[in-house]
Amino acid sequence: MAWSGVEGHLFPADLRGATPVTVKPQRSLPGTPVSGKQPPIDLRTSMDGKYKEIAEELFTRSLAESEMRSAPYEFPEDSPIEQLEERRHRLERQISQDIKLEPEILLRAKQDFMKIDSDTDLEFMSERGIDAVDDGFRARALPLEREYQRVSISGEEKCGVPFVDLVDAAKCVVKALFIREKYISLSMQNFCKTTACSLQELGETPLDLRVYEEIPETPVDADAPVHPPVSETHPYENLDPKNMPADTEYSCEMVDGVVHVFNRKSPTEKGTLLDLPYPDLKEYIADMNIMLALIINGPVKSFCYRRLQYLSSKFQMHILLNEMKELAAQKKVPHRDFYNIRKVDTHIHASSCMNQKHLLRFIKRAMKKYPGEVVHVERGHGQTLMDVFENMNLTAFDLSVDTLDMHADRNTFHRFDKFNAKYNPIGESILREIFIKTDNHIEGKYFAHIIKEVMEDLEESKYQNSELRLSIYGRSRDEWDKLAKWAVKHAVYSDNVRWLIQVPRLFDVYRTKKQLANFQEMLENIFLPLFEVTVNPRSNPELHLFLQHVVGFDSVDDESKPEHHVFNMDSPQPANWTAETNPPYSYYLYYTYANMTVLNHLRRRRGFHTFVLRPHCGEAGPIHHLVSGFMLSENISHGLLLRKAPVLQYLYYLAQIGIAMSPLSNNSLFLSYHRNPLPEYLSRGLSISLSTDDPLQFHFTKRPENLS
Ligand SMILES: [Zn+2]
Repeated sequence: MAWSGVEGHLFPADLRGATPVTVKPQRSLPGTPVSGKQPPIDLRTSMDGKYKEIAEELFTRSLAESEMRSAPYEFPEDSPIEQLEERRHRLERQISQDIKLEPEILLRAKQDFMKIDSDTDLEFMSERGIDAVDDGFRARALPLEREYQRVSISGEEKCGVPFVDLVDAAKCVVKALFIREKYISLSMQNFCKTTACSLQELGETPLDLRVYEEIPETPVDADAPVHPPVSETHPYENLDPKNMPADTEYSCEMVDGVVHVFNRKSPTEKGTLLDLPYPDLKEYIADMNIMLALIINGPVKSFCYRRLQYLSSKFQMHILLNEMKELAAQKKVPHRDFYNIRKVDTHIHASSCMNQKHLLRFIKRAMKKYPGEVVHVERGHGQTLMDVFENMNLTAFDLSVDTLDMHADRNTFHRFDKFNAKYNPIGESILREIFIKTDNHIEGKYFAHIIKEVMEDLEESKYQNSELRLSIYGRSRDEWDKLAKWAVKHAVYSDNVRWLIQVPRLFDVYRTKKQLANFQEMLENIFLPLFEVTVNPRSNPELHLFLQHVVGFDSVDDESKPEHHVFNMDSPQPANWTAETNPPYSYYLYYTYANMTVLNHLRRRRGFHTFVLRPHCGEAGPIHHLVSGFMLSENISHGLLLRKAPVLQYLYYLAQIGIAMSPLSNNSLFLSYHRNPLPEYLSRGLSISLSTDDPLQFHFTKRPENLS
C-alpha cells in the first residue's frame, strides 16, 4: 500500500461543503416511523443472532462495576502485542536519536532498507489499482506527495490478522459504518464524504447521501477565502413580523417522546400527519446491540488495534523522514504563522468564555457604575449590587482573582461536583446568577455585556471564532423565549460567534423538586417552542432570528455519574418516565436526536437551516456513551475514553467524526495532561480540534495558545 501522508490532515476539507439540500420525501405514516434500509451487500458475520445477548452481557457488567483487569472492549494492557509495541517504540526512539547524531548516513541506510522511491511506487500502485480504499485522497494528495519521502509496504496480509478473522472483522467494521450512515443521513447531518464514497463502492444501490445536492455552506464575499463575510446591518434590527416567513398553520403534538406535525384544514380539527421521517425505536435498540457486540469481539478488537498501530507508525515514519521538509513548507506560507491562522473554538461554554481576570475587572466596573441598580429580589425584597456585596462583607477593593476562586485546582480532579461549584464567584451562587446568567432580575444585562466584550476581542484579533454554548434546561416552556429576547434586546451577536444549545441532563433534579411530572414534559419544553416558531416565525420574531445563529445541540453533565438503567425495549416511554431517577445517557441522546431529525426535515421544507447534534461524549463514564455518539451525532466533545476502546477509536477514525478535545480541561477533571490521548489521535488521523472548554476555570492568559 502506498504511503499517503498523514491521512487525517487531508480529511477536514471533505467535511465542509457536504451540506444536504433537497430531500426525497421518506415514508412516515402515522405510527410507522421510517425503517432504515438494509446495507446493499451481504454483511453477515459470525456474531449474527447473538447481538442482543452479547450487548446485555456488556451492560450488566458495566452496571455491576466488574473487578476485571480490563474491560471487554479494551485491548489488555499487558498483552504480548503491547510489550512488542513498547519494544518497537523504544527502538524508534533510538533510531530518531541516532538520526539526529548522524543524519545522512542513517537516513540513506534506512532508505535502502525501506526501498524508498515514492514516485515509482505510486505509479506502480496506481497501474495495478492497489488498495481502492486509499484512492480517494491519494488522487488529491499527489501534487504535494512528490516532495515528501514515502515508504511502500507490499504483500497480501498487511494487517497482521489471520485471513478468516480479517474478512469477519472487516465486515463488522463496514456494518458499523452503514449504521452510522443511516442515522446521520436521516437526520440531515454531515457524513464524511470519503467514507461515503468507500461505502458506495461496496454496494450496488446508491446510499441515502445521493438525495443531497451540494450547495456552498453560506453565501460568501468575493474575498471570502481571506476574510469572513461581514454583516452590513445588525441581524436583530428588523423584528417586524410582516418580514418573517408566513404561517403554515401546522399543529404540533408530542407522541411517545417525538414531536409529530399535523396539517390541519381548520383550527378545530387535528389534521393529517405530515410526512416527516423519524427513527424507529426498535431498530435503534437492535442497532445499538450490534454496535455493543462489535466493540467487544476479540478478532475485531485485534484487527482494529493493529490498524491503529499501523496508522501511528505511518505517522512516526513520515515525521522521521519529512520533518524538515514540513517545517520548510510551513515557512514558505506568506503572512501566516501560528497566531494568525484562522481558528474556531468548537467547544466553549458561554458562561465561562471569559478568563478570571476579565470577569474580575467586569465585576469591579459594575460595582462602580451601577451600585444602586436592583439586581436581585429575595422574598419580595429588592437588593442593589451594593447590598449584595455588603451582605457578603466585601468591597471592590477586597476583590482579587484569588478571592474570586473560580480556577479549577487539584481539588476538582475526579470531582465534577466541586468543579461545578467553581462557577460561583467567591463561592456565592448569587453572583453567578447576577453576572453569568441570561435569565435573572436584570434580564441578563451584565452577562450580555461581558459576552459582547469577549466578542469584541475575537473580532479585534480577526482570526478567532467561537461556538459558545448557551443553556436550555427544559424546566419550563418559556426558556427559549427568554433566551432569544436576551440575545435580541442586548444585541448579543458577532460574525465571529455562533451558538450551540447545551441541555444539561438534570431531569432527576427537576423531577425531585416536582418541577416536571415526566420526561416527556422536559422534551416538550425543549422542542415544542422550536417547532412552533418554525411553523409560524411571525409568532416569535426574536426566536426566529436568534435561531439563525444556532448551530445545534449539545448534551452536558457529569458522565461519570452512575447510571442505574439500561435503555432497551422495556424502558418506559418518556411520558411514563415518572421516576425520580435520571434516564441514561443513550436515552437522552436518542430523544434529542429523534426530535431534532423531525425538526430538521420541517425546517428544510421551509427553507431554513438545519441543526446538528454535537454532545459531550466519552469524557468519562461507561463506554456505551461513545456508541450512542457514534450512531447519532455529527461531532463530539472530549472522546477521551476512545483511547481504551480500539474498535470504537478505529470507527471514529474511519467515519472522521470530529472530536473537540481540551487537554487542559481534562487535566483538571479526568486525565492528567501528559497522559492525554490527543497526540496519539492526531498521529492516527482522527479528526480532532483543540478547544478551550472553560477559559474561566482553566486559563491564566487571554489567548489560549499562550499556554500550550
Ligand atoms: Zn465542555
